[in-house]
Formats: sequence, structure tokens, C-alpha cells
Amino acid sequence: MVLRSGSHNIPVVLSIAGFDPSSGAGITADIKTIAAHKCYGVTCITSLTVQSTRGVRSVEPIEGRVITETLEELTSDLQVAAIKIGMLGSSEAARAVAGFLKRHQPRNVVLDPVLKSSSGADLISAEGLKILQQRLIAMALVITPNAEEAGTLTGKKVSTPQEMEAAALRLRTMGARNVIVTGGHLDPPREVLSLESRRDLVTLLGTSVHTRSTHGTGCVFSTSLACRIAMGKNLPEAAKGAKSYVESALKKAPLVGRGVGPVV
Ligand code: PLP
Repeated sequence: MVLRSGSHNIPVVLSIAGFDPSSGAGITADIKTIAAHKCYGVTCITSLTVQSTRGVRSVEPIEGRVITETLEELTSDLQVAAIKIGMLGSSEAARAVAGFLKRHQPRNVVLDPVLKSSSGADLISAEGLKILQQRLIAMALVITPNAEEAGTLTGKKVSTPQEMEAAALRLRTMGARNVIVTGGHLDPPREVLSLESRRDLVTLLGTSVHTRSTHGTGCVFSTSLACRIAMGKNLPEAAKGAKSYVESALKKAPLVGRGVGPVV
């Protein structure tokens, strides 16, 4: 029997995100996650960061024109099954991505509205935040803010499970079709889902994993979710799968660097 390579189909997942040279978050963490899900990852870098496990030192935006050309080039060539959007870094990047989504109207878009690093650095400008709130949120299939991001997006502090629920509903009224507010800071950790397909909220409870390797948890969750959607799972199934993927990644996280280590 002759085996021909290049003859099997593999779901293509596009990550539009920032570059973290320590590979804990951003594009390179996404590529590792996509490969672990047996999908094929392609990328569009929105910004470079200078960072290590010890924190983010600076952010260098990529020109909007380069982002637009990258997205047009990739999507004119490949059939993309799902898109994950992470750190945008600048209003120019946010505008370029919004323009691309408006032109192509892709169905399976997971938007992780990355605003700040856990070390406290701003990962988007005030103008970029407005574009997220006013344009991008409504163009995604699902958005995955953590409690703090949900707070900034809605303008109200979010920390408790009740505040997470209120924020999920508020984000729906702001135009989001489906919302998953992640609460990895809680014990037990929980996700609150507000879905267009059901009237009641859904809560997923997890188990706390004690580790100092938590850098990139949000990136890995949203990318795992995008991969599962690319493989045809519905949103509740994909969210459950992504949650347990992050939990097992945290349990196996390698000890790398002197700061907050990578989750994958
Ligand atoms: N750097 C990049 C490129 C990111 O995309 C993100 C988060 O999405 C971060 C840093 C922040 O990661 P953390 O919240 O784990 O510090």
C-alpha cells in the first residue's frame, strides 16, 4: 500500500494575538495548544511584547496594514475552521481586525478580550478598548473575559460569582452573542456561561490546582475552546472540554523561569 502524505483533512485554527517571547501566553502558547488538539495552527501577530516569566516590559504594535494583509493572505488560501482573537495591543490592530471580521463575517470567532497582563501591564490602549466594546464583542460567536476584564468591559467591579453572572448578562445586552466569564481566581474555580441558546445561566465548577505556573491560562482556555468549536463541538461541550484541558495543563505545568511559569 502506498501512503500519500498531505491527503488528510485537519481543522485549521487561526490565532490573532500578541507575541510573548517566553511562550507562556500569546501566539506561541496558542500554537502549542492547537497542536495538542490535533488541529493546524496559523497566526497573525498583532503586537510584539518584551517579556519573560517575570512580567511584561514593553509592547510594540504591528502596523494595521500588515495585520490586514496577513489575514487576507491566509484566508484567501486556507479554509479556516475557527478563529481565536487574543491580545490586540493597539487601536490600529483592533481596527484592522474589526475590518477583517466585517468583510468576511467568519462564523466561529472566539474573542478573548485581553486587557492587562497579570503583572499589571496594559495590553490594549483606551481607544482599542472602545473598539472592543463597540465593534468586536458583537462580531464574535463567543467572548471569554476573566472576571477583571468583564469588570472593565461593563464598567462595574466583578469578583464574586453573583457579579460574574450580572456581568455575563450585561455583556449580552452590549451585543455579545455568547459569554463565558472565567473565574480561575475563585475556589473552586468556576465559569459562568450566558448562551443565546438558553435562558438560564450555566455554571461550570472546577478544582483548584495549586501551582505558580499560571501564565497564559486565559490564552490556553480560549484557544482550546476555538479548537473544539473547529472540531464541531457545541459551545457547552467545548467550554467543558476547554476547562478540563486547562485544569490538566495546570497539573502538568513545567517549572520554567524565575517568575510566573507557563501553563503549557
Ligand atoms: N502577553 C501576551 C502576548 C498575551 O496574549 C497575554 C494574555 O493573553 C499576556 C501576555 C498576559 O498573560 P497573563 O495574564 O498570563 O500575564
